[in-house]
Amino acid sequence: MRVLWLATALREGGVPVVEHIGWRTRGWEPWAPQFGIVHATAAPRTQSDEVQVRIVRDGHATLAGPIANACVDRSGRWHVLASGRCNTALTGWAGPAAGLGNTNLLGVEACNDNRTEPWPDVQYQAYARGWAAICRQLGWPAGRLVGHKEHQPGDKSDPTFAMDRFRSRVAQLLAEGDDMALSDQDLDRIAVAVWGRTNPATGREYHELVRGLVPVESPVTGDKSTWQAQTKWAHLRARQGLDATLGQVVPRLDALLSAVQGGDAAAVLARLDELSQLAAADRRAHADQLEAQLEAAAAERAQLLELVQKVAAGEADAAAVVDELGRRLALSPEPA
Ligand SMILES: [Zn+2]
Repeated sequence: MRVLWLATALREGGVPVVEHIGWRTRGWEPWAPQFGIVHATAAPRTQSDEVQVRIVRDGHATLAGPIANACVDRSGRWHVLASGRCNTALTGWAGPAAGLGNTNLLGVEACNDNRTEPWPDVQYQAYARGWAAICRQLGWPAGRLVGHKEHQPGDKSDPTFAMDRFRSRVAQLLAEGDDMALSDQDLDRIAVAVWGRTNPATGREYHELVRGLVPVESPVTGDKSTWQAQTKWAHLRARQGLDATLGQVVPRLDALLSAVQGGDAAAVLARLDELSQLAAADRRAHADQLEAQLEAAAAERAQLLELVQKVAAGEADAAAVVDELGRRLALSPEPA
């Protein structure tokens, strides 16, 4: 088999994804993964993410690449590298995957020196979230994930974090399940709920716009409400594209997006609700202003007409009326 669904499943799982050219045909067959091997690169801490990911993809002097199907960098981005069998581990002698080797293992690396380098939370959480997406796709429980150190004890020590705690986190994410991924119908429901858009034609166009605005590599690292806040932000941006009056609040929305990425999703959701009320009030005020302008123009025209009628009836001096007309027309923004 080839895991041609890998990039899509990871995105739907809410992690940022970088697809490396050729990943769909990289890696060998036959391949029938039964367990996932959780690695750390154990490369020098000073070596860049870019170099580490390239080595996992292309191999090195003593090991042909690909070394893993994906590699998670220190920013929590999943680099998708291969869809087939990789040179990811030896035939193990311990743990649930004992006796199994590359033909039955799906491997993922993560950039870490495997010594004292701390795991940034953004990387650790994305590592768990991406593995949860893979488990969900394959119907695996978190127990299918095995640390390389558990597979080849005495020989390997990666990763440095506790595998039981990691599996618990993955299990928790699996339990949250499909709450994370918003379907097209969910997006439409949000659009209707937030903006009251019920016209099917407009709704479809609007929906396409929203899809285009949801960032492909959105750094979703928090919980469901973070994802909802980001989606809501995308809807507000889409609305801005359709309705110029909301343009006034775009800078505030951009500031809010930063706040979402900072993690205070509940507060941001509340503020977004507030802003949507403000936007509606702006539109109402704009309409009121237009109404007032139209009334003023109508009153002006009525007065001018009255003057002309007085001249026609001999009730007013023509020269004085012409002067008055000239004065008013020069002041009028739209001379009739
Ligand atoms: Zn390893």
